Amino acid sequence: MSDQTKKTEGQQKQEALSYKKKNYYETADKAELKKIFDYAEGYKRFLDAAKTEREACAVSVEMAQAKGFTEYHFGDKLKAGDKKYFINRNKSVVVFRIGKENLEEDGMRLIASHIDAPRVDIKQNPLYEDSGLCYLKTHYYGGIKKYQWTAIPLSLHGTVVLKDGSSVDVKVGEEASDPVFYIDDLLPHLGGEQMSQNAGKIIDGEQLNVVVGGLPYADKEVGEKIKLTALSYLNEKYGMQEEDFLSAELSAVPAYPARDVGFDRAFIGAYGHDDRVCAYPALTAVLDNDSRHTVLAMLVDKEEIGSEGTTGMQCQVYSDLMEEICIAFGAKFRKVRAKSKCLSSDVTAAYDPNFAGVYEKMNSAMISCGTSMCKFTGARGKSGSSDASAEFVGEVRNMFAADGVVWQTAELGKVDAGGGGTVAKFLANMNIDTVDLGVPVISMHAPYELVSKADVYSNYKAFLAFMK
Ligand code: MN
Ligand code: MN
Repeated sequence: MSDQTKKTEGQQKQEALSYKKKNYYETADKAELKKIFDYAEGYKRFLDAAKTEREACAVSVEMAQAKGFTEYHFGDKLKAGDKKYFINRNKSVVVFRIGKENLEEDGMRLIASHIDAPRVDIKQNPLYEDSGLCYLKTHYYGGIKKYQWTAIPLSLHGTVVLKDGSSVDVKVGEEASDPVFYIDDLLPHLGGEQMSQNAGKIIDGEQLNVVVGGLPYADKEVGEKIKLTALSYLNEKYGMQEEDFLSAELSAVPAYPARDVGFDRAFIGAYGHDDRVCAYPALTAVLDNDSRHTVLAMLVDKEEIGSEGTTGMQCQVYSDLMEEICIAFGAKFRKVRAKSKCLSSDVTAAYDPNFAGVYEKMNSAMISCGTSMCKFTGARGKSGSSDASAEFVGEVRNMFAADGVVWQTAELGKVDAGGGGTVAKFLANMNIDTVDLGVPVISMHAPYELVSKADVYSNYKAFLAFMK
């Protein structure tokens, strides 16, 4: 590096006037690098413990309790300094702190992320045997490339409500001593016709059947012996009968743990970065940060299938909670909403040099260049996007600048190459200034996704700055 006095006038001007993304790893000093790598360790533990929205909800509650947060119910009294969490049907959770500022003047600081992830759900009447194999039939959840979910180890997670009304949790395939499950694919030797088809047809939805057993029950008098072995296992272990699948929510997810990727361990490979890579920083930012503002980390369900229903972001329950907080302080909800600010924190696509054709490099999120702000999402002509205002982006940008947050701007891909949406519009529709900010992901929605540790930590730092 040449010193400033040796730079020409043009060089100095270029430096002062031009915008360039920075690789966070390149700009971070030793102490900062240590923070980046240390933070990733906690995140990997969260990923391994939270493979479904129910598990993510439970782990978030445990982490909140460990920091002195207590459960909130509608109508509870609240005061400045209170640290609370609100559980919605065990599938979504809002962790919040009450600040010192006047709610009507200061509003709330919201971070909204989702804790559901694409996966393969078990059908309601799933169990059958065929040709020596026992299977569970499935119906996939979210946008997946179906062929990616074959021939990999899967674990089974979920909750079953039994005939007597009690419920039992299922989690098999995560411990090293556990068995795993498996969706079969065709050998290449016989795959000529399969491979000549459109990739969306290589594996049909009805072919995503999960192998769960192969031992025939030792009784000559019964038929469907392998199925009976599975049923007797489920009965012994969980008190289940076949009919109980009717009221079960079981999901097959990749059985791999989160691992460092690369000689230098710059990246994390894991199932379900989308969107736990934003949910974990949102959660830890609220847990770690004694803000003067009232801050909420909203960890919601069902984003991958449209944010509908009682646990998705479109449910009234989230605005009800915010309104209840207002009522506790005699504040008018509409006044508070008008002063509130939200970061809708979901992942975006990282520029992938292997598939350069679908990206526009100048406006794509570059891996390790920090958390990525999408002023707008949507498809075609920004359709379906809430599109944040220049004023709000300017405000957020200054918060980040003040705290030295390394961040970047991003669009999902080339104009008209595709598109996607987030929960941003549902918050913006409430008259809350909202912009998308999240971690860039490589191989999004694959069974094993890739993120940069630098970007995860940058996301956390961005949230701390936003709550300051
Ligand atoms: Mn997402
Ligand atoms: Mn997604």
